[in-house]
Amino acid sequence: MRAILDKGAEPSRNENRYHLRAVNVDWISHANDTLRRRGFRSGGARAAVVGLLGAEPCCLTAQEVFDRARAAGRPVGLASVYRALDVLVEMRLVQRVDLGAGTARFEARRPDGEHHHHVVCDDCGRVEAFADQRLEVALDGVAEGVGFAVDTHDVVLRGACAECRG
Ligand SMILES: [Zn+2]
Ligand SMILES: [Zn+2]
Repeated sequence: MRAILDKGAEPSRNENRYHLRAVNVDWISHANDTLRRRGFRSGGARAAVVGLLGAEPCCLTAQEVFDRARAAGRPVGLASVYRALDVLVEMRLVQRVDLGAGTARFEARRPDGEHHHHVVCDDCGRVEAFADQRLEVALDGVAEGVGFAVDTHDVVLRGACAECRG
């Protein structure tokens, strides 16, 4: 598992701030190839969900996926969005992200293992992404010692964002 830190040229108050890539064309073709190999027909809600998650740098709720699909003129139903997300999670193309607000979020899971984690404001619900190579190295070390074939991990930091702290 690998996280990429792109600190960029601009100084930031959070040196670990993750510069999210907006469009993930590689992931979209990877997801479509995988679905095709497993015998899934292309088109419909699944294609709409893949396109939306592939264009999204972070996680979306099922409702947000649905709203965006409808706004883009795709005639999908909420139930078919949920089914498509379930299939994508089962095929490990999408990571289910639980940020503790009672609503699952969904994020494209890159085939190269590149990923980020989330920091959540408990007051306003703001979600930001971060990546830290030291954290990944530490978690890889822990994973080696637990006797499981560790496939993925979740890390969520929570607290109050700068705005809510006033
Ligand atoms: Zn994210
Ligand atoms: Zn990680």
